[in-house]
Amino acid sequence: MNEHILVCLSSAPSNAKIIRTAARMADAFQGNFTALFIETPNFSSMSQDNQKRLNANMNLAKQLGAKIETCYGDNIAYQISEFARLSGVTNIVIGRSLNDRHHFVKRPSLTDQLIAYAPNVDIHIIPDGTSNPSYLSEEAKGQGNTFFSLTDIVKCLVSLVVATIVGNFFHKAGFSEANIIMVYILSVLITAIITTYRGYSLVSSVISVIVFNFFFTEPKYTLFAYDKGYPVTFLVMFFAAFMTGALAAKQKTHAKQLAQLAWRTRLLFYTNQQLQQAKSREEIVTVTAEQLVKLFDRDLVIYLIENEKLGEANVFSASEGKVQKACYTEETEKKVAEWVFLHNKQAGATTERYKNAICRYLTIRVNNHIYGIVGIAATNSPLDAFENSLLFSILGECALALENEKNSREKEEARILAKNEQLRANILRGISHDLRTPLTSIFGNASNLLTNGDEFDQDTKKQLYMDIYEDSMWLINLVENLLSVTRLEEGNMQIHMSAELIDEVIEEALRYIKRRSLQHQITVNNCDELILVKMDARLIVQTLINILDNAIKYTPKGSSITITTKKFEKIAIIEIADNGPGISDDVKPHIFDMFYSGTKQIADSRRSMGLGLYLCQSIVHAHDGEIYVLDQKPQGSIFRISLPIEEVTIYE
Ligand code: ADP
Repeated sequence: MNEHILVCLSSAPSNAKIIRTAARMADAFQGNFTALFIETPNFSSMSQDNQKRLNANMNLAKQLGAKIETCYGDNIAYQISEFARLSGVTNIVIGRSLNDRHHFVKRPSLTDQLIAYAPNVDIHIIPDGTSNPSYLSEEAKGQGNTFFSLTDIVKCLVSLVVATIVGNFFHKAGFSEANIIMVYILSVLITAIITTYRGYSLVSSVISVIVFNFFFTEPKYTLFAYDKGYPVTFLVMFFAAFMTGALAAKQKTHAKQLAQLAWRTRLLFYTNQQLQQAKSREEIVTVTAEQLVKLFDRDLVIYLIENEKLGEANVFSASEGKVQKACYTEETEKKVAEWVFLHNKQAGATTERYKNAICRYLTIRVNNHIYGIVGIAATNSPLDAFENSLLFSILGECALALENEKNSREKEEARILAKNEQLRANILRGISHDLRTPLTSIFGNASNLLTNGDEFDQDTKKQLYMDIYEDSMWLINLVENLLSVTRLEEGNMQIHMSAELIDEVIEEALRYIKRRSLQHQITVNNCDELILVKMDARLIVQTLINILDNAIKYTPKGSSITITTKKFEKIAIIEIADNGPGISDDVKPHIFDMFYSGTKQIADSRRSMGLGLYLCQSIVHAHDGEIYVLDQKPQGSIFRISLPIEEVTIYE
């Protein structure tokens, strides 16, 4: 089984070391490598420095060949194990800093939890050595930053004041204290919902208890309480308010996370769908670029890799028309993109290398194969971890689409190659079999004439000469057809167009066929008008010979063949009709196929290779014309060729 290594991403400075260890492991196992980031409810309150470090760790993992994935939830161990189960992860690499977070209530370590959740996965714990207190305190500081929000404090106070007014009203109405306590619990619940930080519900719970004590317990307007039971009431009130508030806050974050996850899934699904519909590399790049521009509202430049080199730059602008497109394609920018391609690492704005570039450049790749380089214009606010993970996911999808396109293109090329090979093999087989019979016959007749020529009477001699003539004509025609077919298949068929009179072309074809048609009656019905058509006369003559030859071959002696020419608006029509057995409806769709030589074997089987009509069709199509077969009444077939008439100026 293929090993699948999973490393967990965090904003800890030691995470880089863990990612490197995991990458080495993935390399040693030659396995899949995934870096997983679990977005917990604290994510939004992460300090700028921690966000930066998380992004750096994410980039490092990507550079080391990891596929970046994001999951949402506050139970890290559960999320990791679920991901591992669903993605077939065999080894999980985690650091001790993630592993041993100290809480004032002792909780089972992450490893213990992971072992319980995913007993079949190997867990590797990497000692990080550098316990970094500043990292943890920064995290706490990060949370502190958002705590003092004036609007949240006002919301909290308003909620408490309203609760006190309602409580006062209840008190005056003679309601019990339990009702007033419920009002305060409700106010804490509302505070938890309308404020951004969980701490407000805690503070609100404490203040509620104090305010309740102050306004509603004897002695009033003091912080004392006479009744012995009050401390318990206060404690229960505090916990009830706090727990309700905490639950509501958790629920709120959960809903937000779910909404974000749903949005992300929908977006990726939509991108994926669009990418699957894209037919060419250019379309794939356009779909990806449009999604990224829409998402991040930044200009993009994308280079596709062509023949191991950077191709043309494609610039996609976020604001129609306003951008100076030239700045993205300057030599200095292209150099950064080239560096990224050569080193398979990201560079440019917001990174350590080529900081001064306008864009941040990343690779579009699957494993180590780079399909393109994307440059994202840097703005004042760098992409956050969520946006980065989205970016990586979309680029990953784009790379996969490009890989699929490459595979199907290669398959198509291989198919054409195999078809050509097959064609060659078939032709060779056909030739060796078909050439031998007429050549043996020519050889036999000629040697008969040479050795016993004097003994034969005139009629026998004539018959022998006639046989030699017919066999060699057939051979000439066959060789001509073969040459044309191979040239056509290889795309080397050169068409020399010139204006020709249809009547003359027919006459030329009849000259070739004359001797073979002695036992058939051929009539030509020319159109009253002279029809001039632009054509390669040699090829059209070959077409007519093939059709006439068939009409002679497949009809009994004495049958009649009629050639009719017509003009219909700007189309010239040549019809070759015979009154032979005709062609049945089930055979008709195949007669123009290559190597199709019908179901009925004619007596002289050597004369059927199934190339004639295929070639006729190819030639007529090359002239933008049409060829089809119709039934002749009462019996026989009609082959109709239509060719477009072009205006030809005749200089007298
Ligand atoms: P080939 O003549 O070498 O078999 P073609 O491509 O010229 O190959 O013709 C394909 C098939 O179409 C023939 O084998 C024959 O069965 C059928 N066909 C063509 N022309 C006629 C015709 N005039 N009458 C009856 N059958 C015909």
